[in-house]
Amino acid sequence: MKAEIIAVGTELLLGQIVNTNARYLSQGLAALGIDVFFQTVVGDNDARIRQAIETARSRADLLLFTGGLGPTMDDLTKDVLAGYLGRRILIHEPTMEAMERFFASRGSHMVESNRRQANWIEGSEPLENEAGLAVGNALEQDGTRYILLPGPPKEMVPMFEGPATRWLLAEIGAGAPLHSRILRFAGIGESRLEHELIDLIESQSDPTIAPYAKEGEVAIRLSSKSADEAQALDRIERMAQRIRERLGAHIYAEEDISLEEAVLRRLRTRRMRVSVAESCTGGLLAELITGIPGSSGEFLGGIVTYTNTMKHKLLGIPLAQLDGPDAPGAVSASTAALMAQRVAETTGSDWGVSVTGVAGPGSSEGKPVGLVYIGIARKGGEVQTHELNAGGNRDMVRIRAAKHALYRLWL
Ligand code: ATP
Ligand code: MG
Repeated sequence: MKAEIIAVGTELLLGQIVNTNARYLSQGLAALGIDVFFQTVVGDNDARIRQAIETARSRADLLLFTGGLGPTMDDLTKDVLAGYLGRRILIHEPTMEAMERFFASRGSHMVESNRRQANWIEGSEPLENEAGLAVGNALEQDGTRYILLPGPPKEMVPMFEGPATRWLLAEIGAGAPLHSRILRFAGIGESRLEHELIDLIESQSDPTIAPYAKEGEVAIRLSSKSADEAQALDRIERMAQRIRERLGAHIYAEEDISLEEAVLRRLRTRRMRVSVAESCTGGLLAELITGIPGSSGEFLGGIVTYTNTMKHKLLGIPLAQLDGPDAPGAVSASTAALMAQRVAETTGSDWGVSVTGVAGPGSSEGKPVGLVYIGIARKGGEVQTHELNAGGNRDMVRIRAAKHALYRLWL
């Protein structure tokens, strides 16, 4: 199946918002084994939306719309598509009732325009909106399938993952449910991952291989649509094995868990505890770890020593180590080692982890943006350090540095 994503909204064309929905939907469709050949952006304009539909129909058999389902007069997607397909617009009663309840519970009155959010295209499948008011739509006509999703990502994502995906699978599956497996990677960037697997990615058929990246981590979803379950699982497993042979040391999970969760699980089975000393990540590493419920069993605490003075005062790092013409400096392997050792000693944890680096935008100590040192100290003093080049903007350097520290601890 060939899909085209059509993002509707003049604010997208004006560059006022970034089309993150298209990126999300491309990844989501790839994970379902559906090829996306085009992404279109069109303004809130009747004639041009029609033109976009016309063009997309000539080159795709699934048109996935996002945006323009709301209450205002510039929200046109349903009206234009209904007009194009020669169908009527009806009122979806359950949505109307839910809206009436919503406004009543707030003691306010529903203005007329809100009713538009309960509009649906005659004969379509209504898609429930669990995070907002406007109902989505899915339908098939003359061999082309249409899915209409809202614009706000917090409404669009649950609608895509829930009712839209169910509808799609029922439409395309025809008794062939999709089997998939996720491989989650750490300590490797998106481009190197792709480079290592390029031959497999380029020659993929069944299973499909969909890499995606988010928040400093990369993952691959292997999906098979084979009607025979045993065959599908076997194909997925054989592909997973080929990937493990190349990149096994970077695979931290084959289920949908974050790296911090994998690290905590591993510490738990080994009955070990960790503490952290952070500089350029400013507490992000501790934030990631404590975001996992129950982390207090394995995480003792952390120290943020942002300046040299604090590294000296709170961790006892000698000033001569940090400052001076011949000093290694705050961003150095030896400082990372000391930070990790000192925090492990101070807290009595089995492991001490440190991060020190240059998050940017400016360089520091004459060292380039993105240069990061990670220290991993074992109780008793044994310590390893790792140099990382976490190129990118400030946010990316910080998240990559924190994730890399977790990766080194996981190893
Ligand atoms: P609403 O009920 O909020 O009007 P809607 O379905 O009509 O929802 P739009 O009016 O097109 O959607 O967009 C509403 C908001 O959703 C935009 O201001 C923007 O913040 C976000 N949004 C819309 N389209 C996208 C997109 N393609 N990528 C990311 N965000 C988007
Ligand atoms: Mg709108």
